[in-house]
Amino acid sequence: MEVTDQRVRQEVDKFMRGLVRRNPGEPEFHQAVLEVIESLMPLALENPQYREARILERMTEPDRVIIFRVTWEDDAGRIHADRAWRVQFNNAIGPYKGGLRFHHDLTLGVLKFLGFEQVFKNSLTGLPMGGAKGGSNFNPKGRSDREVMRFCQSLMVELHRHIGEDTDVPAGDIGVGGREISYMFGQYKRLANRFVGTLTGKGLAFGGSLVRLEATGYGTVYFMREMLRRIGEDVDGKVCVVSGSGNVALYAIEKLIELGGKVVTASDSEGFVHDPDGLDRDKFEFLRALKEERRGRIRELADAFSGVTFYPGARPWGVAADLAFPSATQNELGKDDARALIENGVLAVAEGANMPATHEAVHKLKAAGVLFGPGKAANAGGVAVSGLEQSQNALRVSWPHEKVDQRLGEIMREVHEKCVTYGEGPDGTVDYVRGANRAGFVKVAEAMLAYGAV
Ligand code: NDP
Repeated sequence: MEVTDQRVRQEVDKFMRGLVRRNPGEPEFHQAVLEVIESLMPLALENPQYREARILERMTEPDRVIIFRVTWEDDAGRIHADRAWRVQFNNAIGPYKGGLRFHHDLTLGVLKFLGFEQVFKNSLTGLPMGGAKGGSNFNPKGRSDREVMRFCQSLMVELHRHIGEDTDVPAGDIGVGGREISYMFGQYKRLANRFVGTLTGKGLAFGGSLVRLEATGYGTVYFMREMLRRIGEDVDGKVCVVSGSGNVALYAIEKLIELGGKVVTASDSEGFVHDPDGLDRDKFEFLRALKEERRGRIRELADAFSGVTFYPGARPWGVAADLAFPSATQNELGKDDARALIENGVLAVAEGANMPATHEAVHKLKAAGVLFGPGKAANAGGVAVSGLEQSQNALRVSWPHEKVDQRLGEIMREVHEKCVTYGEGPDGTVDYVRGANRAGFVKVAEAMLAYGAV
């Protein structure tokens, strides 16, 4: 039967009806799968071996989900019982790999979307890593270091049974940075009585890799640079809007400043700051220390520097810019935000966060001819350097900064190339969403076909 647009639409709708029925109440997971299935269905219809082996159905069902209670005691002696999950999605091409998130409104549906995306992202890096994601609805905000330590240790008492350097290697994500990874690794090492690279994002004194801290933000800017280079443009001199002020946003901002970009915004969950002059090294250093060391609020940047304005409860997408880097959280850039960016003449968007743009926003941006780098490609630098951290741990070596940063740059160039190979249209423009989804898919699907019905 001929593969017409109408047939593709019918098959996508049928597939999605089944997926929603099997996974009720998980809108973020449905959204992530829809975006991927729209790209893959024509490929699946043209290649019957994928359909006969039910590859799409198998790739949208996690290998397993582990759910457990984490009981811990706060500084006042009160007992808390939080919930934690590890979604081990797919290990066809390597051990499970993906971050842990601590956020008060985390749900299983969000972790399934993140684990699903991780499978494609990890495949795109070219490194042998499967996809997973995990975390807890524990809220670290306002908790003392000792409370965070007790929580992390309690969580690891259960999680350590399910992870290992050849099984599943967690890392950080929202709410999980160096402090949390250190507490969890310390407890893992004690329980397992082995010093191996079972977590990444570790401190430099105990097996961490140089550039891992900066890797996701730097990598997102490297990906943007590749998209721009292809159309004869450059980051230098471009006005940039960035959302977030966590790990990803901070190091995207630092790299943009280094490459001559003018970064006019940053944000947190309380609002955004606008600096029409553009953040310089001094303001960046203030912001880095504010967020990484003092765990303060973004409005303090406006209190400290004249000319910087804080907009409470708002997002930065109405500020005129050439380049946009949504780097906070999922669904933070909706269709009205996309319209505002387009009206202001935005040239390109690179997702530092996972799925920050809604499905409608992505379609709007693409239809307007905006270059759109989806998170599974644009933010793959973090997991890529995590992969390099695993290699260094296995070899018991520590590579210098230049070597890791250079390798990160190469990997982001290769990820971009794969997107072009699989996403270039007859008119020479690139659909990076289609390219990333197809390139990430093919390697995993081929491995699954080779294994037979497992
Ligand atoms: P952090 O916890 O370091 O920072 C998160 C930032 O987003 C903070 O500024 C936070 O503000 C803001 N934020 C969180 N939730 C919301 C919300 N509901 N509304 C508005 N702002 C919010 O996390 P990361 O920087 O590590 O992660 C950011 C994104 O990047 C996530 O989507 C993550 O999955 C993705 N990512 C991270 C990687 C990594 O290596 N860390 C790798 C690849 C992707 P506040 O401080 O007020 O909460």
